[in-house]
Amino acid sequence: MLVELTRSEKLYEKARKLIPGGVSSPVRAIKPFPFYTVSASGSKITDADGNGYIDFCLAYGPNILGHANPKIKQTIIEQLDKGWLYGTPTELEIKLAERIAGIYPSIDMVRFVSTGTEATMSALRVARGFTGRNKFIKIEGGFHGAHDAVLVKAGSGATTLGKPDSLGVPEDFTRNTLQVPFNDIEALIEVMEKYGKDIAAFILEPVMGNVGPILPDEGYLQEVRKITEENDVVLIFDEVITGFRMAMGGAQEYYGVTPDMTTLGKIIGGGMPIGVFGGKREIMEMVAPSGGVYQAGTYSGSPTSVAAGITVLDILEEENVHKKLNATGDKLRAGITDIVEDLGLNYNVCGVSSMFKVFFGDRPRNYQEVLRCDKEGYLKFFFRMLESSIFLPPSQFETNFLCTAHSEEDLERLLAAYQANLK
Ligand SMILES: *Cc1c(COP(=O)(O)O)cnc(C)c1O
Repeated sequence: MLVELTRSEKLYEKARKLIPGGVSSPVRAIKPFPFYTVSASGSKITDADGNGYIDFCLAYGPNILGHANPKIKQTIIEQLDKGWLYGTPTELEIKLAERIAGIYPSIDMVRFVSTGTEATMSALRVARGFTGRNKFIKIEGGFHGAHDAVLVKAGSGATTLGKPDSLGVPEDFTRNTLQVPFNDIEALIEVMEKYGKDIAAFILEPVMGNVGPILPDEGYLQEVRKITEENDVVLIFDEVITGFRMAMGGAQEYYGVTPDMTTLGKIIGGGMPIGVFGGKREIMEMVAPSGGVYQAGTYSGSPTSVAAGITVLDILEEENVHKKLNATGDKLRAGITDIVEDLGLNYNVCGVSSMFKVFFGDRPRNYQEVLRCDKEGYLKFFFRMLESSIFLPPSQFETNFLCTAHSEEDLERLLAAYQANLK
């Protein structure tokens, strides 16, 4: 390696004795070892050896305003002065709930939690409580966090019952999880015909964000809406990545499709831990204490997270962020496509709004297709990019993000690095 990573290597040696795999979340593990971060500001992240990288991973999505945004920082500091955990309701929660409900027509009520995992886990429980049904459908390879019911192996047929994808998850906990491939309406119809009356919910990322970005085919989400409605199945859009990224109103605004429930996270915490689930009033009134579906959390509605979230919304609206970032995304994808064509590579540049990725292979429409991409080739490319001071997520299966802190020069350096390193 050209970049010096002596200190990171030492930290890793120590970390892996104390923390499984040396990391607090598996996606952060990079072989032979990850760089350990000491600070980050704007578009730059700095490691323990003093190397700086332009960051296009951005904490896997939350940092749409870059690192250490001054306005968010100020909000957090002001909140810290007033205390940061009360265990009582606050006006801040009402304000943020009101803002979210005003932006998402599908959301009448919300409940704040601390992570996206909690949000999808709770949304599924609510959908089951509301419908009195046990099964739910997810997309094969779709990611909804790390709770038992969604940790299901990919690769089984559309109508077979879910098998656990992790040790420690009993088969009993996943047998009610059904899976269909993304962009496959036939498979969805088949599952509905077989299990329709037992299905509480269909949960999906409107754009698959955790295996690249994989886009919905024209009309797919509309058809999903129609079929779930006909079968009285609660449609849950997991917008933990796409919410407040593709548009203020997320993918549902972008594509004009209205789900029954929505899960949010990442961006809406301004970098502080948060998750949100919300939806129609009649469904959300099922949640305790107003209804019989239990859900609770010590840190739910954390004042620092909620205050940061309100400031994020202010900035996104005042600075017209989505219009600008989405245009930058279009320009960037066109630029990378030119490079891929110049180099004569049969790679695919995929993405929408401020999400992008080069697939080392054909454009995938679902999880099985993304698996055909050249994973190892991608990993070598990842290290060449790191040598060029560009930090991309260390996997073919993660989305790259743009933020408002990326300068013209950052993007020129990114394109130059693609030009130099893709082949
Ligand atoms: C990140 C993510 C989650 C999990 O959120 P955490 O805050 O990491 O628990 C759930 N769904 C989607 C679509 C995500 O991208």
